[in-house]
Amino acid sequence: MSINQSGWRPTSPEANTGNVPASVTGNKALMLEEALIFEIGDAHSTGVDFAAPSPPRGEGRGEGKPSNAAPGTAPHPTLSPKGRGLSRLGNLSRTAPIGLPGLSEPETVRHYTRLSRQNYGIDLGFFPLGSCTMKHNPRLNEKMARLPGFSDVHPLQPVDTVQGALEVIHQLAHWLVTLTGMTSVAMSPKAGAHGELCGILAIRAALEAKGEGARKIILVPESAHGTNPATAAFAGYSVEDIPATAEGRVDTAALKARLGPDVAGVMITNPNTCGLFERDMREISDAVHAAGGFVYCDGANFNAIVGRVRPGDLGIDAMHINLHKTFSTPHGGGGPGSGPVVFSEALTPYAPLPFVENQDGQFVLVEEETAGEHHAGSFGRMVAFHGQMGMFTRALTYILSHGADGLRQVSEDAVLNANYILRSLDDTLDAPFGPSGPCMHEALFSDSGLAAGFSTIDIAKGLIDEGFHPMTMYFPLVVHGAMLVEPTETESKAALDQFIAALRSVAERAKAGDPSLKTAPHFAPRARLDETLAARKPVLVWKDPAPLAQAAE
Ligand SMILES: *Cc1c(COP(=O)(O)O)cnc(C)c1O
Repeated sequence: MSINQSGWRPTSPEANTGNVPASVTGNKALMLEEALIFEIGDAHSTGVDFAAPSPPRGEGRGEGKPSNAAPGTAPHPTLSPKGRGLSRLGNLSRTAPIGLPGLSEPETVRHYTRLSRQNYGIDLGFFPLGSCTMKHNPRLNEKMARLPGFSDVHPLQPVDTVQGALEVIHQLAHWLVTLTGMTSVAMSPKAGAHGELCGILAIRAALEAKGEGARKIILVPESAHGTNPATAAFAGYSVEDIPATAEGRVDTAALKARLGPDVAGVMITNPNTCGLFERDMREISDAVHAAGGFVYCDGANFNAIVGRVRPGDLGIDAMHINLHKTFSTPHGGGGPGSGPVVFSEALTPYAPLPFVENQDGQFVLVEEETAGEHHAGSFGRMVAFHGQMGMFTRALTYILSHGADGLRQVSEDAVLNANYILRSLDDTLDAPFGPSGPCMHEALFSDSGLAAGFSTIDIAKGLIDEGFHPMTMYFPLVVHGAMLVEPTETESKAALDQFIAALRSVAERAKAGDPSLKTAPHFAPRARLDETLAARKPVLVWKDPAPLAQAAE
């Protein structure tokens, strides 16, 4: 870093790139170098001069000797033993300086604004992260979510004062059940993984109610998202892998062979993480049901089939929907997630509380006290309140503004865009399941065919220099050096063409063994980092070097 407490120091000569000298400030044109806030502002200066506090009534005014001397030179009034009396906190008064950096308002605003410019987001450019569905969040969603009747409500308000908000939850629930062809939906889970847990807990409650709680195995395909086995283990199950076929789908025969009285159920992602539709889903569901188990479907990839396939028709018992993927609500640091779970008829009695019900035109929240016998099997609740109101409002806005035809077109365009990428690049990059036919909403490539010593990470780093966020790397695990690209339907053909040209160029450099690619990115604020060290030994706490230096004296 180039900025220290006194402002800046010249950058070291080795920071030069080629024949162009590095700037003395460390800044790259109008992209400004940014230090930690503790390195910019020091604890001994202040951006704001407060008048010294006057003593509380009855404690001899003037005793604390408020000072007008420059900040940093005067003793803090509450720190001097005499000044203690100024505070009614007694022995809770601070005895040492707080150590916060003293910055003025413009310095503070600039610090955070500069940091925000180093953040990459969907509002800046194409975000090809596979499995994440980084689509544009229409601004109409934001406008609706900010209506005070939705944004300013409190979860403990009397229900007759929040009828509109409850109607939004109820309507969204209706459309999620309709789009999936299921019986009911639990709206409260707060993310995909949380939804998985909700679904597995309902399965566990249903098995226990049938006296089959001894079933302790959940079968999970090799290509599953890491959250699936984690969820099953978290809920107390043992996880067993089911292999994938050479064409990237679940090995149905192997799965059927493993079914039995110890198997609680399966967790299958459809479309799967190789970007392929599991064609045997109905057959798998029937076999699992016949063996007394339940079928959990990871519905994070619903964007590929929304409006075209109803998971309920495939025999699925529970499935989470990522509102922050399929229904465009912000995610990835942009906002909280929301993972409603739809249930089959068989699992509905075990679904969590609360839920919204329309009773003769009045929307009510069905809670433990009001659930009655019909929901006596409910496994309990996932969260304190009712879920993410802002995400519900955005998702319902998205669904209503698209309509049935619009949602169908979403999945068609998402699949078309992914196939355009797959077929535009499968002459340059290895596409392991390319011969299996068209993909769904994401295109999968591998590192096969790159020059010796080159791998997926080099391609990802090269893409950063081209101004693209990298695709998902090394996932799914069933493909060596996987690169999973999910364009979503919200990218234009021009954007896809630019990405394809960039990826093609970087891939050709990796195939030719271009050594400059091994040290990419060259144009980013930081060059290639030791990511293993950063992950294993993260430095998360700033330590003031000054006391350390003093101690050494
Ligand atoms: C995103 C995703 C999840 C997890 O969803 P979160 O909301 O991040 O918890 C699970 N499975 C698949 C296939 C996903 O893509």
